[in-house]
Amino acid sequence: MRTAYLIDMDGVVYRENHLIPGAAEFIEALQSTNTPFLFLTNNSAPTPADLAVRLKHMGVDGMSSQHFYTSALNTADFLSETDPNSTVFVIGEGGLLAALHERKIPSDAISPRYVVVGEGATTMERLTKAHECIERSARLLVTNPDNWCPVSSDKTRPGAGATAAYLEASTGRRAYYLGKPNGYMFHRARRKLADWTLNEIHNFVMIGDTMETDIRGAFEAGMQSFLVLTGSTSMQDVGDYVYQPTRVLQSVADLTEEIKTGRAGDRLNSPVFNAATGPGSKSGLRHQTDNFTLHKPRPRPAMTK
Ligand SMILES: [Mg+2]
Repeated sequence: MRTAYLIDMDGVVYRENHLIPGAAEFIEALQSTNTPFLFLTNNSAPTPADLAVRLKHMGVDGMSSQHFYTSALNTADFLSETDPNSTVFVIGEGGLLAALHERKIPSDAISPRYVVVGEGATTMERLTKAHECIERSARLLVTNPDNWCPVSSDKTRPGAGATAAYLEASTGRRAYYLGKPNGYMFHRARRKLADWTLNEIHNFVMIGDTMETDIRGAFEAGMQSFLVLTGSTSMQDVGDYVYQPTRVLQSVADLTEEIKTGRAGDRLNSPVFNAATGPGSKSGLRHQTDNFTLHKPRPRPAMTK
C-alpha cells in the first residue's frame, strides 16, 4: 500500500530557524524511498521557492517549489477554480501576490470582486481601502484563519485571522477562511499528490503539531493524522479536543525507520508511551488515546466580567 504524506512545517520540521532533531533524516528517508510528500503550510507570506531556500539554510537540500503547498497557492487555486472573472485587492506579502499573479488574477483597487487578506504587514491606509472595497460589495477572502503565529518560544505576531477580524468588525461582513483546517486545502493538496503519482496512492497521512488546523482538517477530509509533540501541542492538551489524531509521535524522527523499511512500526514504541507501560503492565494500550487524561479538572471560569 503506497502512502503519501502531507507535512506541516513550523513545529514539525523546524522551530525558530532550527531544524527539529531527526527531521533532516526523516526527509532524506522520504526522498530515498521515493515516498510522495508535500509540505503544507498556512503561512501565505513566503513563496514555495522562499521555503526551499529556508530549508536549505537549515541543512535540508534537494527541495524544489513543487514540494510546498501554501495557503496562498490554495487561495489562488480557489479563485481560479470558482470564479474565472475574479479581481482582487490584496493585503499580503510576496507569496500571496506571486500566487495570484501566476494564476493571472488581476488586481483592482477600485471595484474588486474580492478583498484577499494574507499574512504579513499592512498599513492603516490599505486597511481603509479594503474596508471601502468591501462596503462597495467586494467579498472578504482570507488565506488562513490563524489569529497569531509563533515567532519564538515566548513571542508571537498577529496573523491573517487578526487582520480579517479587523475588517469583519469594521464592515459587519463575514470572511471566508481558506488554509488549514478548511477541507479545500486538504482536497487540493491531495489532488496535487495524486496527479504526480498517477493516482497510485492508497493512503494519505497528515503530520502536524496543531490540533485545530492539522489534526482537525485531516479528520474532516477523511485522512489519517499523526500528531507530533515538537510544536504547539503537549500530551496533556490532546484530550481537550473532540477530534483525535490517528497516532501521537514524539517527533517525525519516530517515522524514519518505518519509511525506510516500508513496514508500519509498532505505533506504541514511541518514547511518548514509555511512562504508560510500566513493569508488569500489558505492553501497549488498546487505543492511542487511552492514556490521555480526558477528565482533568479545569479551572473555573470567572463568575463575573
Ligand atoms: Mg505547525
